[in-house]
Amino acid sequence: MPDVLEQSPVRAFPGSIDIVVPCHNEAEALPLSTPTVIDLMRSLIARNGANDCRLRLVLVDDGSRDRTWEVIKDQARQFPEVTGIKLARNFGHQNALLGGLSRANAEVVISLDADLQDDPKAMEAMIEKYRHGAEIVFGVREERATDTVFKRSTAVGFYRIMNALGINLVHNHADYRLMSRKALRVLLEYNEVNLFLRGVVASMGFKTAIVEYARSSRVAGSTSYNIAKMLGLALTGLLSFSSLPLRMIAVAGFFASLLSLFIALWVLFSALFERQYIVPGWASLLLPISLFGSLQLLSAGIIGEYIGRIYLEVKRRPRFILDDVVDGRRLDGSVAFRDEDVVADAD
Ligand code: UDP
Ligand code: MG
Repeated sequence: MPDVLEQSPVRAFPGSIDIVVPCHNEAEALPLSTPTVIDLMRSLIARNGANDCRLRLVLVDDGSRDRTWEVIKDQARQFPEVTGIKLARNFGHQNALLGGLSRANAEVVISLDADLQDDPKAMEAMIEKYRHGAEIVFGVREERATDTVFKRSTAVGFYRIMNALGINLVHNHADYRLMSRKALRVLLEYNEVNLFLRGVVASMGFKTAIVEYARSSRVAGSTSYNIAKMLGLALTGLLSFSSLPLRMIAVAGFFASLLSLFIALWVLFSALFERQYIVPGWASLLLPISLFGSLQLLSAGIIGEYIGRIYLEVKRRPRFILDDVVDGRRLDGSVAFRDEDVVADAD
């Protein structure tokens, strides 16, 4: 099959581009990343002669404890392209990203981390793939040399488990991706509170493409993803895309019942025909009790995880809450913050 890029583009350069960047404690990284991304995109737009293209960088402050919001406001003053959104507290990477995406209305929207670990130069290739017809373009890390051994091996393990469970994921793709307006609209129809965006997007269909890039280290600041958060995200991905663990409980229960049936037959047989009413050993009693006891606890735990998530889903609480908005194009005092913006997730 010929590479799509060998054919001529089917679309013009996008008329508008939104880049959404979730930021949690990124006061050190933003002064480096914002100008880099804006310069890069301005020159890309100029090179394509798309002078009418409206570029916007949506920086979402996800309840940072450092000066991130002040930095974002400064940048909105400096760059007309910058729109800042402040969330009322820390809602987590996935929800912050969703908050930004829900405000995007451009022809294409690209999600990017604030630390420049995802090479912004890859955006050019992403837009090319869009012009050749892709509705979703996944950024894929070529190699993970800059990640720690721990992060690399846990990631490999995660993709293996997800694969084994039959969950469709793009290998080594995190949240660096381009979506057309059409794909974004579909994404925003997913109302789940247990949000695993990369899984949702991969499950949507449409014509997709992949752009490879080398992942570098953070330009500044430190990671917000500790082990607990990584595990939490992996578990959300697994549990919100597969009910196989529940089926495994049923299968385990089936085999345990078979085993008990054999034990029952054996006990009856020895009582009736061998006259052994009193079993001398305690091991044969204690072992099954502890085995089945722990099996039951484990099963209850797995079911509990699902119930907990169902509980969160049925409450339908907002996945993010807006506190404030600054718009680089409206710093003359005109209002960029309307009442209906407060809970953008309500509809
Ligand atoms: N992030 C966020 N909210 C959080 C944690 C992270 O918005 O609760 C943002 C963070 O600012 C960054 C992106 O998500 O832009 C990825 O996080 P990070 O770089 O800390 O993770 P890593 O790249 O180490 O996996
Ligand atoms: Mg990072």
